[in-house]
Amino acid sequence: RSKELGRNKFRFYNSEMSERTRQEMRLEERLHHALAKGALNLHYQPKINLASGCLEGLEALLRWHDDELGQVSPAEVIPLAERLGLIETLGTQVLEMVCAQLQKWQHLARVPVAVNLSVLQLQSEHFLRVLDHCLSRYQIAPELIELEITESFFIPERAEAMLAMLEAIRSRGIRLSIDDFGTGYSSLAYLRKLPINALKLDRSFVQNLPGSQGEVEISLAVLGMARGLGLEVIAEGVETAAQAEFLAKHHCQQAQGFYFSRPLPADAVPRWLEINAPNQ
Ligand code: C2E
Ligand code: MG
Ligand code: MG
Ligand code: MG
Repeated sequence: RSKELGRNKFRFYNSEMSERTRQEMRLEERLHHALAKGALNLHYQPKINLASGCLEGLEALLRWHDDELGQVSPAEVIPLAERLGLIETLGTQVLEMVCAQLQKWQHLARVPVAVNLSVLQLQSEHFLRVLDHCLSRYQIAPELIELEITESFFIPERAEAMLAMLEAIRSRGIRLSIDDFGTGYSSLAYLRKLPINALKLDRSFVQNLPGSQGEVEISLAVLGMARGLGLEVIAEGVETAAQAEFLAKHHCQQAQGFYFSRPLPADAVPRWLEINAPNQ
């Protein structure tokens, strides 16, 4: 009896594994297809100045609708592209799309667009060349691009090389921010050396404001530290008026979240730029 059970379990496990492999292979094949066709798309989420209520920037977020698979989340696509060695191709397409879009929006308002980067892009020797090429091809001022990197970046063995890469980026006038701040392992000593402009306070802290004492203390500590280091703080995932009020009261400069706006398709952005962006 127990032998039989064991066998069944084995068979179940086996078929589950191959099902997963099949799905992954299909996803892989579709991703290759999407990259070849240039079928990836971006949505743009407003970044709001908490003191003025004005739109001060946008964040580009990857969207992929596949005819066969439907909508596939970036949380699934990005790690897959990293595993398959496709992240550089994908990242270049994202940068190209953002620069092309910025060129179209320039006559409306000049607000920076933030692009999320995979740490693998920053480790590539081609990255700076790709970046320079995009900016010059679409004639984009470097100040209009912001790059968001996560703390997974901070691998001690690579600290020196990464610091040099960030300095090369920053010296071009491109803005840099640390995404999902507070969830990784960057040391404060290292953080102090980085040529960055802003920290993005992770949504996991923001969502429990202002009721939860622990998250209140963490948020205040991040805001205090950022002020001391001359960095701005952008709160992610603001969903309620109470969260926005708490953050404004404690001098958090910017916020993003469903309370202000969901990520928008590109054609919905001009309305926001006309109404909400400060006049240039
Ligand atoms: P992220 O950069 O931290 O982006 C914020 C995520 O939170 C986005 O999810 C956004 O849609 C979502 N979000 C924004 N406001 C709220 C809110 O009020 N409540 C909740 N519950 N969620 C909110 P999304 O678009 O699914 O992206 C997930 C992650 O995928 C991003 O996290 C980023 O790390 C990565 N990603 C997205 N686009 C790209 C890309 O072009 N390149 C790379 N390398 N990574 C990307
Ligand atoms: Mg981000
Ligand atoms: Mg984030
Ligand atoms: Mg996040």
